Amino acid sequence: MSEHYSFGFDSGHLPARADKIARKYGARLVNFTFPGCSCGHGCHDECPENRRHWFRVIRYDSFDLGMVDVVMEKVAAAREAYKLCEFK
Ligand SMILES: [Zn+2]
Repeated sequence: MSEHYSFGFDSGHLPARADKIARKYGARLVNFTFPGCSCGHGCHDECPENRRHWFRVIRYDSFDLGMVDVVMEKVAAAREAYKLCEFK
């Protein structure tokens, strides 16, 4: 497995709760904002349109590809349970 294995690339940012879930399985959440503005409002700091998130494996000794599905499922379940606006 690659030393920089990432999965679950998607738009927006996820809250610390998602990071907690991922860490249980040997991965971590990465919230990233591309520089510049894509929404047309001329954002100077973080443009909401440029927010992305993904998960990166941090413990290769205990991580296998089956965990990708487990993490994605648990995060999706948490988002469902807390609803998007409260998933923080
Ligand atoms: Zn913007």
